[in-house]
Amino acid sequence: MGPVSTPSAPLADLVDLDHAATTRVRPEVLEAMAPFLGDRYGNPSGSHRLARDAVRAVDEARERIAEVLGCAPGEVVFSSGGTESDNHAVSGGMPPRPGVPVCSAAEHHAVLDPVEALGGRVVPVGRDGRVDLDALAATLSVLATTVSVVSVMLANNETGVLNDLDAVARVVHAVEPEVPKVAVHTDAVQAAAWMDLRSAAASADLVSVSGHKLGGPKGIGALVVRRNTPLAPLVRGGGQERGRRSGTSNVAGIVGLAAALDATDRDRDATNQRIGALRDRLADGLLAAVPDAIETAAPDGDRSGLLPGICHLCIDGVDSETLLFLLESEGVLASAASSCSSGAQQSSHVLAAMGVAESAARGSLRLSLGWDSTEADVDAALHAVPTAVRRVREFG
Ligand code: PLP
Repeated sequence: MGPVSTPSAPLADLVDLDHAATTRVRPEVLEAMAPFLGDRYGNPSGSHRLARDAVRAVDEARERIAEVLGCAPGEVVFSSGGTESDNHAVSGGMPPRPGVPVCSAAEHHAVLDPVEALGGRVVPVGRDGRVDLDALAATLSVLATTVSVVSVMLANNETGVLNDLDAVARVVHAVEPEVPKVAVHTDAVQAAAWMDLRSAAASADLVSVSGHKLGGPKGIGALVVRRNTPLAPLVRGGGQERGRRSGTSNVAGIVGLAAALDATDRDRDATNQRIGALRDRLADGLLAAVPDAIETAAPDGDRSGLLPGICHLCIDGVDSETLLFLLESEGVLASAASSCSSGAQQSSHVLAAMGVAESAARGSLRLSLGWDSTEADVDAALHAVPTAVRRVREFG
């Protein structure tokens, strides 16, 4: 192999129904980034022309990002992605905020793991996948003055389930007469591709987003830190990002994040309508064609509380890993939504928290659409999934 790896098989014809994992970089994002990987390679920490050019690019990107996220430019802290933003928000930086963090049981591991590492509390979710607000209130009142942050994701990456952040914030602020202000954090990494965070995340003090989930590059994200929200740096060093996140700015990534959020914001209504209709056709078609399949987070068919891009099924009597293997052999890429970083399947903590039976969870299938998904992708899945399920059931 040379310095750059070559694919082992052609990738162009694959049907990608795993957009919740990552997305193709939008053409306008590539175009916006290219100069900053070429002649405009300055480090904004310097003071000469090349550096000033980079400062201007970062400033302009920050302004556009702030506009789309519904915050002031000074409230945007760039990071390496969703994981870092989540860790930063939950911990409060280094040293961590006093008090213990609290989160919902359906959070991504980027929230759950730091909460657990800091001795925090995990609040259950209901069968609908939403955080149990009564349990949250009870946990907060027991912990009283020792809560540092409450973290509840806007949209779940496995099921697409949406939380009502305003309701979460109301519960948190109701305990505040006894407690100094508790920060509310939301992991909006999945939501940002679909929802207008100006309104949907308005009641959060801290908001995490990531570029690669919405047609931007990998390795860039942001944490919105609203004014008067205490936050120490997690990454210390040269004092970039007003001392809140050190490290030479990823100028091309920042410009790419701005272009991706800009395009997402511009196209949001049309994309949501088009992709929502595709998802409905996909889910309805599969439910009709696959016996003993349930739509995990919409068992009664009401999808109003879900992201438009995710179709999550539990298919009884089918093993996800075998199913995914057969689908891939037909060129359809999907996910069980519960793989660990090595790619091996492990049981889903999200489905377990929702009380989905182990036998049903074993047959979980997440088909996730993105900004560039097409009718043909859905046609391919409507053909491949029922065939693959039949084969798994016949041959085990
Ligand atoms: N939070 C959620 C809900 C996610 O879906 C992901 C990515 O899978 C992350 C956080 C982590 O983001 P990143 O891959 O940018 O580190």
